[in-house]
Amino acid sequence: MFDSLSEKLDGVFQKLRGKGHLTEDNVKEALREVRLVLLEADVNFKVVKDFVAAVRERAVGQEVLKSLTPAQQVIKIVRDELAMLMGEGSDNALDLAARPPVPIMLCGLQGSGKTTTCGKLALQLRREKRNPLLVPADVYRPAAIDQLKTLGRQLGIEVFDSQVGQDPVEICEAARRYGELNGFDTLILDTAGRLHIDDKLMAELERIKTSLAPREILFVADAMTGQDAVNVAQSFDERLGVTGVVLTKLDGDARGGAALSVRAVTGKPIKFVGMGEKLDALEVFHPDRMAQRILGMGDVLSLIEKAEAAIDKDTAADMEKRLRKEGFTLDSFLEQMQSIKKMGSMESILKMIPGAGKQMKQLKDMQLPDKELKKIEAIIRSMTARERRDHRILNGSRRMRIAKGSGTTVHDVNVLIKRFTEAQKMMKKMQKLGPKGMKKMMRG
Ligand code: GDP
Repeated sequence: MFDSLSEKLDGVFQKLRGKGHLTEDNVKEALREVRLVLLEADVNFKVVKDFVAAVRERAVGQEVLKSLTPAQQVIKIVRDELAMLMGEGSDNALDLAARPPVPIMLCGLQGSGKTTTCGKLALQLRREKRNPLLVPADVYRPAAIDQLKTLGRQLGIEVFDSQVGQDPVEICEAARRYGELNGFDTLILDTAGRLHIDDKLMAELERIKTSLAPREILFVADAMTGQDAVNVAQSFDERLGVTGVVLTKLDGDARGGAALSVRAVTGKPIKFVGMGEKLDALEVFHPDRMAQRILGMGDVLSLIEKAEAAIDKDTAADMEKRLRKEGFTLDSFLEQMQSIKKMGSMESILKMIPGAGKQMKQLKDMQLPDKELKKIEAIIRSMTARERRDHRILNGSRRMRIAKGSGTTVHDVNVLIKRFTEAQKMMKKMQKLGPKGMKKMMRG
């Protein structure tokens, strides 16, 4: 995501880092370069101008020039201002406080990812224990209705039955009645899109808005289209009064212009970002984390959340209970290895790590290949319960028996025990720190 933007900004800051003391001219020169980089990333001209002015004002203040680490100060200011630009400090959460079923309307151009986002949103709401009904209100393209029905089937989420040629307002109203009668608390309206803005379509969307009074009107924008997406967002907002933006395809090679301009130009918050074609690839948007990612500082908090989501909550709770009771044993070691495996595609995770390049190897080492994991599993399963609880009793003959039982060698068993004792030491250190200390360590 935003690779070229990140790289170029890093280049600008590298030059600053090389200087012991910064003069006002150094800062101004760097900001001139930042300005070019942002324009190249297709950020709105006026947004760039205001952004650079805001950073300059703070950066050439006494505070920075006198500080011990002026370059870091400048980078911090740029990070803060980037976050502000993307809406830091405002409330980006969905507002669903209304009598159910609460309508959420999604609108946008054809191909922006509207229908996919409807499915992703439904899945996310269900995970929050809501009961959404998907409503296909794009009656011009039979494929659109079929697409939503297919998504609904995949997710096990009901799709309201609508036909090509029906009036979209009537469909939405019927869906609301159906939802009311059948215990649905949220309606997700997938509206029609065109290749370009057209007046007839806008009039139709206005009629849906008047009739259903959606609590949220989300404009779905393809981040790959940069400034165009921002201009279209503005037109939709003028006619419909959107409540938020969903930026899709941020996993692609979007340059960053849409993400950095849309909030400043329309005044509407980005609420979600689409990070892939899969239905679980929708993330709540956090301006501060995005700013960190753009500046290559990584996004450790999202990483932790991702890890937490991947690890079965019950298993984690179980493990914690046992850890407290029995300490870190070979059983917990095996579970930990299996959890790391479950964390999913390492690559997407690695991208969130600060200085990913260097850390990449370390993390890759942590994730064992399947063969290795199977071996560990076999060795631990060949131990008696007592041995698993207390590895210190593992003398030579026990090790030999375990190697035979697991079809491995004594050397393999020794390597495993060594690895385990190292992990045990680390766990002890972490327990001493406590959860607060650990968070502090992660945040640096
Ligand atoms: P609609 O015409 O606006 O309803 O758009 P669709 O939902 O049919 O999406 C158009 C294409 O974009 C499909 O191929 C989707 O799989 C793809 N798409 C949607 N969201 C994302 C995303 O966040 N990342 C990527 N890579 N592809 C996406």
